[in-house]
Amino acid sequence: MPIDTKTNRREPSPQQNYLSKILTFLFWLLILVNLVLFGEPQHPQVPYSQFMAQVEADKVSRVVISSNQIQYELRSEVIAQVPNKQSPAQPKQIFVTIPVAMDLELPKLLREHKVEFSVSPPSNLNWLAVLLSWIMPPLIFLSIWGWLIGRNQLNGPAALTLGKTKARIYSEGSTGIKFNDVAGVDEAKTELQEIIDFLKYADKYTRLGAKIPKGVLLVGPPGTGKTLLARAIAGEAGVPFFSISGSAFIELFVGLGAARVRDLFEQAKQQAPCIVFIDELDALGRSRVSSGSIAGSNDEREQTLNQLLSELDGFEPNTGVILLAATNRPEVLDPALLRPGRFDRQIVVDRPDKIGREAILRVHARNVSLAQDVDLSKLASRTPGFAGADLANLVNEAALLAARKSHTTVTMTDFNEAIERILTGLEKKSRVLNETEKKTVAYHEVGHALIGALIPGTGTVEKISVVPRGVAALGYTLQLPEEDRFLVTESEIRGRIAALLGGRAAEELIFHEVSTGASDDIQKATDLAERFVTLYGMSQALGPIAFEKAQHRFLEGLSNPQRQVSPTIAETIDREVKDLVDSAHEMALTILGKNQQLLEDTAQKLLAKEVLEGEELRHCLHQVQAPAEVDIWLHTGKLLKSALTAQSKA
Ligand code: ADP
Ligand code: MG
Ligand code: ZN
Repeated sequence: MPIDTKTNRREPSPQQNYLSKILTFLFWLLILVNLVLFGEPQHPQVPYSQFMAQVEADKVSRVVISSNQIQYELRSEVIAQVPNKQSPAQPKQIFVTIPVAMDLELPKLLREHKVEFSVSPPSNLNWLAVLLSWIMPPLIFLSIWGWLIGRNQLNGPAALTLGKTKARIYSEGSTGIKFNDVAGVDEAKTELQEIIDFLKYADKYTRLGAKIPKGVLLVGPPGTGKTLLARAIAGEAGVPFFSISGSAFIELFVGLGAARVRDLFEQAKQQAPCIVFIDELDALGRSRVSSGSIAGSNDEREQTLNQLLSELDGFEPNTGVILLAATNRPEVLDPALLRPGRFDRQIVVDRPDKIGREAILRVHARNVSLAQDVDLSKLASRTPGFAGADLANLVNEAALLAARKSHTTVTMTDFNEAIERILTGLEKKSRVLNETEKKTVAYHEVGHALIGALIPGTGTVEKISVVPRGVAALGYTLQLPEEDRFLVTESEIRGRIAALLGGRAAEELIFHEVSTGASDDIQKATDLAERFVTLYGMSQALGPIAFEKAQHRFLEGLSNPQRQVSPTIAETIDREVKDLVDSAHEMALTILGKNQQLLEDTAQKLLAKEVLEGEELRHCLHQVQAPAEVDIWLHTGKLLKSALTAQSKA
């Protein structure tokens, strides 16, 4: 796992701030109201009857009558008799009583007993209470409403944000990434440099009548640096850079995405010259013919796409808005997007070759202190097929390993271990195999290794191990390609299938019983055989006809849609696939049968040491002997009769 410097910790968002402000405001308001309304000193309350009795007994000196209560004081001589527990220091204590409705007799009674009495004006605090009772509910309502809207601004459409673009605008240098940080994709860089040039010195081109390109599409497998390139452009172009992901346009409500597109281009035109970058364009630009079946989402995507198409046509050639987009599925894009005048330039950002990989490793190793023995070019040759993201991951893994061992520098050993780790997963010390299992795994892996060593073009076997690793592997054979391969021949595919089945063959040969350990190998071998027949047209019986439509140019591993075939052809395909796998299996058995002693010895060595590599492994693998029929089979796919019969006897 690469260390991600961005953590997922949520910054307090604006609407959370807003909410907390409102809450504190309400809190203080409540406190204030409390103070004002109920903050008067509390007087002891007495029953009305007791008050009347006290008046009649001439104990009361003064009475203040207000609308809802009566406050009164006792005569001083009475206070002297009744010691006051609560506040003895207070000479004149005020009592409160609630009158029984409107007691019209009271003034008369008071006058009779010579009590001084007055009526207080209605409390001036009352109006405040009334006012607050009117203001508070709407205030609470408004604040909740405001909060909801604020929240919606982040999460989805809301009244105030309908159709506003979510693009982020970067100014020059704000991404902190320069062209120097992107390596190994020189053609793409040259093309993009040209486009930056267009923007910077537009009149140089327009004077000659050239039109500035409108749309540039970056296509390539995942992790090759398309997004990185775009960010580098933002850093280098010196013009505003709008960045948005294609999926940000797709909304629940039909028409919203289209409004967003419109808004984005409106803003872009105001800021021209500028670059608009749409990442993962396929989310938005999927072909209208083939895209999904749910009516609503389809409609929305179509409208959004139409809007994008018309915006692309809409701005004049030289307004200086360049649309840049990236995708790893160019084949699903709507053809209308790709026609001249729209995304008329396609830049392929492919997996790097050896030199490119070395350059990428150098970029990522800049901030890592490397040991003397680290040879980046050797590492580059050991990592065919790695994309930029894998290489970045490799450097990071190696640094992590070195740090774990408390080394001061990252050594070649760390790098090699990191490669292994990336290819086969983490070591699982906790998964303990019992003796039989261990033995099975050892023979299985040696079976792979022996055949792998014999078959040309499958790479060098570098390591065999019976230490469990990764998700599924109980043991593994690390076989690294010697060089970048762009073409694979028929005989190599046969060889690979045989090597994949070597594990199963070894189990059969030694234990006369098979285990579930080979299921992954069998899966891979069958897939390969199927492609041999249906995609590469290598089967003799069927000839060069493709029965799969090659659709995923950059996404390997996704299965392709099948061509419709007649039942006879389907049968032939199945038979051809089966024949190929069967003959490879046969061959694996033949090879291991001829090298059975070597298989035994090597497996025993492996069981004793758990890991075989380096000189020792090379010494073992050198002794593998090739049966005569292997070569013929590899090139023609034909098994000699003798081999077949020999095996069926065995
Ligand atoms: P994608 O092509 O899928 O958009 P990214 O641009 O997101 O790939 O690449 C992911 C990461 O891999 C980058 O952040 C960078 O660290 C590394 N990387 C990929 N390609 C390159 C490259 N050509 N040079 C340097 N680093 C690269
Ligand atoms: Mg990307
Ligand atoms: Zn295996």
